[in-house]
Amino acid sequence: MRRLPGVLLLAALSCTTVPVTGRKELNLVGEGTMNQLGAQTYTQEVSKAKPSSDAAATAMVQRVAKRIADAAEANFHPKYQWQATLIDDPKTVNAWCLPGGKIAVYSGILPLTQDETGLAVVLGHETAHALAHHGAERLSRSTLMQLGESGILAAVGAAKPEAAKPAAAALGIGSQVGIELPFSRSQESEADHIGLVLMAKAGYDPEKAIDFWQRMAAYGQGKAPPAFLSDHPSDKDRIEAIKKEMPEAKAAFVPHQ
Ligand SMILES: [Zn+2]
Repeated sequence: MRRLPGVLLLAALSCTTVPVTGRKELNLVGEGTMNQLGAQTYTQEVSKAKPSSDAAATAMVQRVAKRIADAAEANFHPKYQWQATLIDDPKTVNAWCLPGGKIAVYSGILPLTQDETGLAVVLGHETAHALAHHGAERLSRSTLMQLGESGILAAVGAAKPEAAKPAAAALGIGSQVGIELPFSRSQESEADHIGLVLMAKAGYDPEKAIDFWQRMAAYGQGKAPPAFLSDHPSDKDRIEAIKKEMPEAKAAFVPHQ
């Protein structure tokens, strides 16, 4: 019997399955490490930012985040310590969800989300990146892996820029720390798909996702795309793909109690 090369064996042992799409992914970083990394990065980013003083908008963010989180827990069982915050930053059109369920919304995206369902499109998409382990997948391919899991955590915890910045980038918030290394296009399409199903499971009408992405497309015309869109598929491709996924999302719809 021939022995498998170590790296192949490791890859075989480290494949996880993405919820909804069923894709197999290479994942060399454990869930516990990723959740810790997410929590550390969240604390660092939120401590640098100004929390919103708009009570109504903050309550809306908390409401939508809770419904998305409840649907994620009920269907995909990620065992996260969910947290969400609205950051007062009207110039930033962005939102993210880090591994472990750490969510931030920048107030600049609210004119585009318009209402709770619009925000559910965004938080469904962002939460999907975390549920699908996209950060771990990126980190598994990054040179940071040479530090090992505990080395990465230690360096990020100590806010060492040589690790904290690439780690944040791998988690999909690179633009926040001045590095443009967003999720890949295929991860973005996958997050659209999972997010659409997730918002429906949270009781939000998935048809409204098309309206939201059309508003984003109109907003993006003729200017540099906001961080939120930096490597997303073209607007036309994205909306076409979402239309194809709509029957699946509608079948997943669970009315909110
Ligand atoms: Zn995305």
